[in-house]
Amino acid sequence: MSSPLETALARLDELGGISDSPSYLVRTFLSPANLLAAEKILQWMADLGMETSHAADGTVRGILVGSNPTAPPLLLGSHFDTVIDAGKFDGALGIIAALAALESLHEEKITLPFPVHVLAFSDEEGTRFQTTYLGSRSITAPLDLETLNAPDAAGITIAQAIACEGWHSVATAIRYDPGECRGYVELHIEQGRVLEEADQPACVVSSIAGQSRLTVTLTGRADHAGTTPMPLRRDALTGAAQCILAAEILAESHPPLVITVGKIQIHPGASNSIPQSATFTIDLRHPVDSDRREFLGHLHETFIHIATQRSLELQWIPIQDNNATPCDPALTARLQTSLAAVTGSRLTLASGAGHDGVVISKVCPIAMLFIRCRDGLSHHPDEFASPEDIGTGIEILTHFLKSCPS
Ligand SMILES: [Zn+2]
Repeated sequence: MSSPLETALARLDELGGISDSPSYLVRTFLSPANLLAAEKILQWMADLGMETSHAADGTVRGILVGSNPTAPPLLLGSHFDTVIDAGKFDGALGIIAALAALESLHEEKITLPFPVHVLAFSDEEGTRFQTTYLGSRSITAPLDLETLNAPDAAGITIAQAIACEGWHSVATAIRYDPGECRGYVELHIEQGRVLEEADQPACVVSSIAGQSRLTVTLTGRADHAGTTPMPLRRDALTGAAQCILAAEILAESHPPLVITVGKIQIHPGASNSIPQSATFTIDLRHPVDSDRREFLGHLHETFIHIATQRSLELQWIPIQDNNATPCDPALTARLQTSLAAVTGSRLTLASGAGHDGVVISKVCPIAMLFIRCRDGLSHHPDEFASPEDIGTGIEILTHFLKSCPS
């Protein structure tokens, strides 16, 4: 029989093989691969003797009741959607490590004095709709109308996707009220180089940086590429190019501000037509909320100026605005005790990447454990965490579960 670590490693490979593309890893909200992955995770939960359920939006849950079913549950988990051309550890490891820790307890014949709910979220990255945390948002409150009306690249809204592509057979609304749970703990790869530099396999997280996401559309006029002299053009793409470079200059001159344009679409998109519209995304992050808002305002003014100069219309559509989220000091201190017991280190880091805990912190205390990943590489097919470090992560999580008070 294989050990919980061996099972976890095999599962990472298995989940990493479920993709919507034959040439790289991608699973987005309610895509065929996303639903297949959800079914696979449900099977693993059932194999552990958990009570399983799924929501129409593809998020799945396994409950291990423990010896006191009425005690406030502990939530563990992460997301199983991916970016485009992803690695197999981002998100998936948090779900698989949570199951491995429970399997370790099972092998030791330990029954916890409270229920553990393992949650696997169908969307965190926001790849399809540019709206992050769909999975964790819908477990804390119903999705708002604005979110439900957000369209994907094909014009299908989230509401339509859930209605037409959703997983409705025996679906359960998975929802938590404030105060109902004792906490949420997520293990995740660091997605940065700090642990590697510090020569440490793992650390706890102090807080999650604030993040603003928006969609910007510049609209000009589609004209003939051969007959329209340069001064008469209202080219949306060259306007977008100027905006994007201005964003880069702003971020480069104000560290630790980071700004990314990860996606751009132009219309009509023909080699002999002047682009009529250009739509691109902005992802802006800063650890200090007031600074983040100030830079966002500055960027908006700059874009207005560029659009006016070029006789373009500007649409500035905020998609998401998350304040920095502190992890819960008490829960984090307990996780840190387990980190120290296993590794001898008490290292703490702030997370530059967003995580589901941002949303879940609205209903319960959160804590996070980061695992070292090679070269800090993530959102990339070469993303890698060593079996030794994964084993250490599972051990820390197991130690933490055993030390939780009833
Ligand atoms: Zn992730």
